[in-house]
Amino acid sequence: MVDSENEVEGDDVCEDCGAAVSEGKPGCLKMFEEAIAREFSDYRYGRIHRLTVDVYALQHPEPYMRSGKSFAAHLTGVCVALEYEDAPDINHAVQKWLSRNPAIDKPSQLPRHRGQLTITYVHEAGDAEEHNRRVREWAQSVWDAWAEFHDMAKQLIKEASAKTAGQ
Ligand SMILES: [Zn+2]
Repeated sequence: MVDSENEVEGDDVCEDCGAAVSEGKPGCLKMFEEAIAREFSDYRYGRIHRLTVDVYALQHPEPYMRSGKSFAAHLTGVCVALEYEDAPDINHAVQKWLSRNPAIDKPSQLPRHRGQLTITYVHEAGDAEEHNRRVREWAQSVWDAWAEFHDMAKQLIKEASAKTAGQ
């Protein structure tokens, strides 16, 4: 069912992520901004904020992943959140590495289908616990859609860790 929704064309579908939302792309962005505002308003949302931003970027690479640097930051952010134990340390290393502007080639072909779930799924959450759970489910669905970039994400993380080790 979600698949067929993704195929719907028109004003009420976000062309980047396929979300069925009134006004399409601007409506999708509004939902994202409301979700972010909710995360900032309440400590119970904890550290989920970073993941929300990274996942949204992977579904909307055109505005958020223009440079090789932003591509690497968001791609590794989702990877680290879902697959690594020491997320804050790794994110810190990646940030440090990226701040030196290493040469990173952004692939020319990014996934066209970017996950079954969208920000609407997070937006509908009733409370903080549900919100956090849904962000992780959304992240997993987007990460699965980006499967061909998993190795690249791990390679970038490895390089960032090596280049910043002991600093
Ligand atoms: Zn969207």
